[in-house]
Amino acid sequence: MCNGGKKDYYAILRKSMVNSQIKARGVTDKRVLKVLEKVPRHLFVPDDLQSEAYNDYPLPIGEGQTISQPYIVARMTELAELKGDEKVLEIGTGSGYQAAILSLLCKEVYSIEIIESLAKSAEKRLKELNYKNVFVRHGDGYLGWTEVAPFDVILITCAPPYLPDSLIRQLKVGGRIVVPMGKEYETQILTVFLKKNGELIKTEYEPVRFVPMKGKIEQSK
Ligand code: SAH
Repeated sequence: MCNGGKKDYYAILRKSMVNSQIKARGVTDKRVLKVLEKVPRHLFVPDDLQSEAYNDYPLPIGEGQTISQPYIVARMTELAELKGDEKVLEIGTGSGYQAAILSLLCKEVYSIEIIESLAKSAEKRLKELNYKNVFVRHGDGYLGWTEVAPFDVILITCAPPYLPDSLIRQLKVGGRIVVPMGKEYETQILTVFLKKNGELIKTEYEPVRFVPMKGKIEQSK
């Protein structure tokens, strides 16, 4: 197959992924659906798994970590309610796929990854694919990114047992945090916190399964 053919092939797989996995489960935000159809997810997974990139499950990306199932990426992105001019903090860069999706829907994405090799490879990949408004840092997301705070949206793609105060402080009033909250795999719930006049309003959505958020958070409570 020539390159053009292969490109079209993946575009067809993406369209079908959006229809059968994402629209079918109730994601309606047109901007989100469009971006899921655009970002080449197969370039964010290891070479030997490219043919599975558009299937309905998470995939390993090395270091015992995974790229989330496409539907979950879409669902979390929809809950972020991005309009285009936001500054977003992502915790858990992983492959960089979620960051790439966000980058097409907001102004800037700052993404923190605790495993150095993943941070480096995601940064390289995002640069090669020309996602110019994504900034990756190797570090502990528990601390946030003080130099560029505050953020309009914080999206956490690993599961913390509680919401770190540091991240609440780095969220603008009127901003939102989208996070799989939970101590154990079995009890994680996709949750949105809205910051309003000094209080956080919590809304819980469906159960999810993410790798635990590690780092300083484990030692502190
Ligand atoms: N968003 C990623 C998938 C995330 S998997 C993607 O699109 O591919 C969860 C990631 O969170 C893992 O890479 C894990 O190393 C990272 N992680 C776990 N605890 C963290 C912490 N305290 N700070 C930053 N990253 C963390």
